[in-house]
Amino acid sequence: MPRSTAPALEKKLARLGLRTPQDLALHLPLRYEDETRLTPVDAAPPGTPVQVEARVLKAEVKYRPKRQLVVHAEGLVLRFLNFYGSQQKQFELAADEGGLVRAYGELRPGFFGAEMVHPRYRIVPPGTPLPRALTPVYPTTAGLSQFQLRKLVLEALDAADLEDTLPAAMRERYGLAALAPSVHALHRPRPGADTAALAERTSPEWRRVKFDELLAQQLSMRIAYRARRAREAMPLPSSGPLLRKFLGKLPFRLTRAQGRAMAEILKDLAEPHPMQRLLQGDVGSGKTIVAAIGCVAAVDAGAQVAVMAPTELLAEQHLRKFTEWLAPLGVPIAWLHGGLTAAGKNAVAKRLAADQPVIAIGTHALFQKKVGFARLALAVVDEQHRFGVQQRLALRRKAGAQTMPHQLMMSATPIPRTLSMTYYADLDVSTIDELPPGRRGVATRLVAASRRAEVLARIREACAEGQQAYWVCPVIEESKHDLQTALDTYELLRGELKGLRAGLLHGRLAAEEKAAVMRQFIAGKLNLLVATTVIEVGVDVPAASLMVIEHAERFGLAQLHQLRGRVGRGARESVCILLFAEPLSDAARARLKVIFENTDGFRIAREDLRLRGPGEFLGERQSGLPLLKYADLDKDEPLAEYAREAAESLLAGDEAAARRHVERWLASRHELARA
Ligand code: ADP
Ligand code: MG
Repeated sequence: MPRSTAPALEKKLARLGLRTPQDLALHLPLRYEDETRLTPVDAAPPGTPVQVEARVLKAEVKYRPKRQLVVHAEGLVLRFLNFYGSQQKQFELAADEGGLVRAYGELRPGFFGAEMVHPRYRIVPPGTPLPRALTPVYPTTAGLSQFQLRKLVLEALDAADLEDTLPAAMRERYGLAALAPSVHALHRPRPGADTAALAERTSPEWRRVKFDELLAQQLSMRIAYRARRAREAMPLPSSGPLLRKFLGKLPFRLTRAQGRAMAEILKDLAEPHPMQRLLQGDVGSGKTIVAAIGCVAAVDAGAQVAVMAPTELLAEQHLRKFTEWLAPLGVPIAWLHGGLTAAGKNAVAKRLAADQPVIAIGTHALFQKKVGFARLALAVVDEQHRFGVQQRLALRRKAGAQTMPHQLMMSATPIPRTLSMTYYADLDVSTIDELPPGRRGVATRLVAASRRAEVLARIREACAEGQQAYWVCPVIEESKHDLQTALDTYELLRGELKGLRAGLLHGRLAAEEKAAVMRQFIAGKLNLLVATTVIEVGVDVPAASLMVIEHAERFGLAQLHQLRGRVGRGARESVCILLFAEPLSDAARARLKVIFENTDGFRIAREDLRLRGPGEFLGERQSGLPLLKYADLDKDEPLAEYAREAAESLLAGDEAAARRHVERWLASRHELARA
């Protein structure tokens, strides 16, 4: 920042994340305005910003309906609701001297003819030439005018270090323009530049800038990954007796994809550096068994494992599976749950604090300060996207300063490849892209709520045949909206489906009660489970083959996909009925169409991204990620691919340049994120 910069100005710039000349130089226009042409007032298309020019006749302050400055020009009225006295004087002077006003904005019909409200304007003497190039418009903040900001940016442009961090060969390989001329051209478009390409950010200059931004993101995450990977971890070889026994008598034959993921995990675990792997696989693809195999390797090495699930319901399900699979081998398992008494909790805590191998299963309670592991070597995080960044960090810290636990994250929320490249750039990824054999699939039906009676008949029929069903309702409490509550639905259904045994599962039940209901359902003692979205995550009851989702139009795509994934887990043909209330909004109709037509989670995620855009799609997941200002992960997918490849080669070839690159693009943004 130039030394003359006043502190107040500095603060405003800091709000925009602009601290250094580099930051300012890389603060690129949001859009461009075409001031190279004048449009006659009577020829302006409605709703489109145009530049007009007219002789100033008079300026006056009016008090009705609100205090405002009204400027009368030939054939044109300008209105300013917020204005300075100096502006009024400026216009009065122009009126006296026969000056012209050049105003840029949208014209609309007014009482005195064509009007513009709050246009950007300049007063010019007659004969002033028009700018020859497009005018950049920058993202700015309150109290910092475009004019001021533009001036600062252009000054900074000369002071900034824009030396290219990319080797010439790399630029050539990806067909990238040089950095400095690109940045200059974006701030000062050349006359005759391709206006559309500039506006749509598809010009070679934009391409270079987006690439750099994506590259910086990749680099920063890869650097973080390497730093962690350089730490020490306890090697967990896969040659131990328990693992050999377990692999010899797995409950089923692993799919090829499961086998591949297992091999990748076991290879990582055997190394003296922490694994940081994401196990990605669609709902029902069988991630749990793969994780269990990793856990056994740790126990073989005499170490401890933490298996963390986002809900107690899911944690208990893991407990059940792990016990079924591993207890016969004599693998010690500990269960840390909300229903434990203080004494019970203490007993578990003691076990973990003792230097003895154990697989501890629980929710994030496992990572409370009070719970200390003597020898945590592996942390498994199921449905990791459900956990916040903070919880993930707590986990990283848990193993103490010396060594880090290996980490296996699991996610059934597939995210499109471009996003995963970005979001998971600091992880290695194993993907299970195949479902276990024998799955019959889920048939999806869209049914209007007015046909509820038919749906009830269908449930009666199915349950008479010994099938089990879920009925999903969106919310549990009376709300002002017309959503049926789970409680009401439950009562209603009990009346409508007399003779069927129904249970109710919702988030307000105590963990113990939830577990009890779930146990009954698993044991086949309930025909129907009325539930809120608490069953969305991970619940696995293979005998359930029918699901009804009420008010399906209110759910998001990822949620519908997750919910539907609760059925189709057994050998029986399953059906998911999406009940919707009419009329449907366009957005809801689009979502239902996607879920009706697709079963592949990755396809659905792709559509979800297309419908919602990356910002909303990522939601809070994005927190902790360096934000992208220019690149668009959907549109710039090929560039993101290149950036990923380039990050590896730049880190390997010229680490100093890689660090300079990250510094240039992200130093101030990190500060912004922290502020
Ligand atoms: P998710 O990947 O959604 O966590 P789970 O691990 O819960 O899936 O597995 C879904 C169901 O499929 C479970 O009942 C599990 O025991 C079963 N399963 C997993 N792998 C196989 C396989 N290779 N063959 C048959 N059944 C399997
Ligand atoms: Mg699971």
